[in-house]
Amino acid sequence: MQIIRDITTLRRAVSALQQGGKSVALVPTMGALHDGHLSLVRMAKRVADHVVVSIFVNPTQFGPNEDFEAYPRDEARDAALLADEGVALLWSPDVTTMYPAGHSTHIEVAELGSDYCGAARPGHFDGVATVVAKLFNQVRADVAIFGEKDWQQLAIIRRMARDLDFKLDILGAPIARDADGLALSSRNAYLSEKQRASATAFPDALKDAVAAIAGGADVAQTLTAAERAIVAGGFDSVDYVALADADSLERLAEFHTPARLLAAARIGRTRLIDNYPVG
Ligand code: AMP
Repeated sequence: MQIIRDITTLRRAVSALQQGGKSVALVPTMGALHDGHLSLVRMAKRVADHVVVSIFVNPTQFGPNEDFEAYPRDEARDAALLADEGVALLWSPDVTTMYPAGHSTHIEVAELGSDYCGAARPGHFDGVATVVAKLFNQVRADVAIFGEKDWQQLAIIRRMARDLDFKLDILGAPIARDADGLALSSRNAYLSEKQRASATAFPDALKDAVAAIAGGADVAQTLTAAERAIVAGGFDSVDYVALADADSLERLAEFHTPARLLAAARIGRTRLIDNYPVG
């Protein structure tokens, strides 16, 4: 596996991979890889001839009081995992390669980015969309894979690719979970043993809410009950638990399909997100 840090070498290497009409899939990540990321890599291998993974902890998607500095980084470990999966190329630019001095253009995400995580993290999705657009232009893959774990992000990337006429296909991969139901996340590494034991209250409360809503229970009451169960289970606060149209992300006061239960909650200083299909 090649590890590349400059755009000229990247372009040459991707062109070489695409020789003879071979296809390339891109899996963008921020590193600190876990089985969720590796499931995206495996999907990428199934749909394309070669896989390119990017690792870039993108400063512009972190707020001033968020965990950019503390975000776990271990490129050597990540590279070994990716090499074992048969990844062709690791694109690992540094911040000045991604954002050279004077960088002054960014993408603004309107409606899809204002609620949920966008409300809790102002500017987050502008940062995500900008870096993903740059990654698309840098790598020029035929397909890119994103996790359903970040449901709002996936919807925003799909919309951006459509709105800005990116040529590649966007695929969503199912959420990988630990045996007790907690969605895998690089941020789970922040949890103490006690917090990790409590964290299962989050998916448990969401699963209960999904079953209730699909069974005809009142939506608003069910969402409130889920928030209470998450806090009772050891979380410090809930950013949101919402029933949304799975595509438009509009909040639903009444259940209809396709719907998705979206949620974010904080335990100690760690913010976790999750979502489930409803019905
Ligand atoms: P991150 O490194 O957290 O930015 O995530 C990189 C990609 O992996 C994103 O497309 C995420 O949605 C995806 N991802 C992260 N965790 C999971 C998971 N538990 N299951 C599936 N995909 C995931």
